[in-house]
Amino acid sequence: MTARTASEIAAGVRSGTLAAAEVLEQHLDRIAAREGEVHAFNLVMTDQARRDAAAVDAAVAAGHDPGPLAGVPLALKDNMCTRGIETTCSSKILEGWKPPYDATVVTRLAAAGAVVVGKTNLDEFAMGSSTENSAFGPTRNPLDITRVPGGSSGGSAAAVAAGFASVSLGSDTGGSIRQPAALCGVVGVKPTYGYVSRYGLVAFASSLDQIGPFTNTVHDAALLLDVIGGHDPMDSTSIPDQHPSLLDAIRRDVVGLRVGRITDLPDGADPDVTERLEAAFDALREAGAKIVDVQVPAFGYGLTAYYLIAPSEASSNLARYDGVRYGLRVERPDTNAMYSATRAAGFGDEVKRRIMLGTYALSAGYYDAYYGKALKVRRLIADDFDRAYEHADVLLTPTAPTVAFPFGSKTDNPLAMYLCDVYTIPTNLAGHPGMSVPFGTGQHGLPVGVQVLAATLGEPTMFRAAAALERAMS
Ligand code: GLN
Repeated sequence: MTARTASEIAAGVRSGTLAAAEVLEQHLDRIAAREGEVHAFNLVMTDQARRDAAAVDAAVAAGHDPGPLAGVPLALKDNMCTRGIETTCSSKILEGWKPPYDATVVTRLAAAGAVVVGKTNLDEFAMGSSTENSAFGPTRNPLDITRVPGGSSGGSAAAVAAGFASVSLGSDTGGSIRQPAALCGVVGVKPTYGYVSRYGLVAFASSLDQIGPFTNTVHDAALLLDVIGGHDPMDSTSIPDQHPSLLDAIRRDVVGLRVGRITDLPDGADPDVTERLEAAFDALREAGAKIVDVQVPAFGYGLTAYYLIAPSEASSNLARYDGVRYGLRVERPDTNAMYSATRAAGFGDEVKRRIMLGTYALSAGYYDAYYGKALKVRRLIADDFDRAYEHADVLLTPTAPTVAFPFGSKTDNPLAMYLCDVYTIPTNLAGHPGMSVPFGTGQHGLPVGVQVLAATLGEPTMFRAAAALERAMS
């Protein structure tokens, strides 16, 4: 496998020493060899990718610069709209639906010269932590095909880990970029809420959803975020400020950086995972950072609050799939019967569970006790983080409590599955950035990720710490 990073590919293509078409064929060859067992994609866009790569090469030949991602093969989670190309969210209810427009990230990637190779598999509507909830069958972890790749962006994580794409995009509502990145041994970033436009991202829980990259290196993640980040008038929650360059940020060392250890973090991580976290603290200390103890007392309530807030928003967002406007329609003599037959046939079990949970939490008489209470907890979590960030520039935690687990080991127990995100969810509730960096291996030689967290718009500092961790491993 040619170990070329996206940065190297783009530099080679822009200088004319590497052909985008050749880079693409290498990735298509790897897809041909292993996609049958991995199932990272819902759709491989071979013809369009070949046309796009040829256009990049033609631009270079004509003396034009195709952009900072020139010729970089990229995979998109199949919940991001692509004009005229099926966008399924791995749900039967959207089967056959072709969006009439591109997501803002897709437009920006194209303008930067990236080549989209396909749309990746996910847990239906991004609800899950293993990609076993896809209506089209699970994705397998390329490092051990008897195990899950994590989720919900399992296809995007697997595509990068298997070398099917140099980089990919996922979405993270409660951990769906960071957890699969950890389980597949790649870098995954959930930016500050509003850092990347959500225009054209199919909504799960709108106050939590963010798009972010999967890459092989911290440098590539900075490169990608510099391209897709920034204000978009089409997303009213998009942050209006100009973001500082993350490629510049990672050039700085971590001397004097205050790295926080959360002393009241919920238990539950396996010993092999906590061992790697300790090694990460040691590595940053050796690189000149200062380790400080902080408390985030409400951290442990994140999971409970999330499983009221996210399903509540989902129950509202998913009301639009009614058999009239999108995809599937199961015909019945009257409209109400058509609605319910369509939704009964179109949604999978986990999506139905979330819709019911959310509808219940929002219903009259229960709203204050459940949804309203969860919003108060959300506020407490954000306040606790703010206090911690008075003493620390970044915080380190495990990304996931365990390494990649075998298929079927959590499918009968939704709560066990939900616990996969105990360390990632609080960040989404606070709107803060977080990223997972591969930091060695644990049980069965499988990868372990360390999570770096920072305050709102703390991406430059977060990336500096992540780059130092990566250097310590090389
Ligand atoms: N696993 C969590 C859930 O099922 C998070 C999903 C996500 O971030 N999209 O809701």
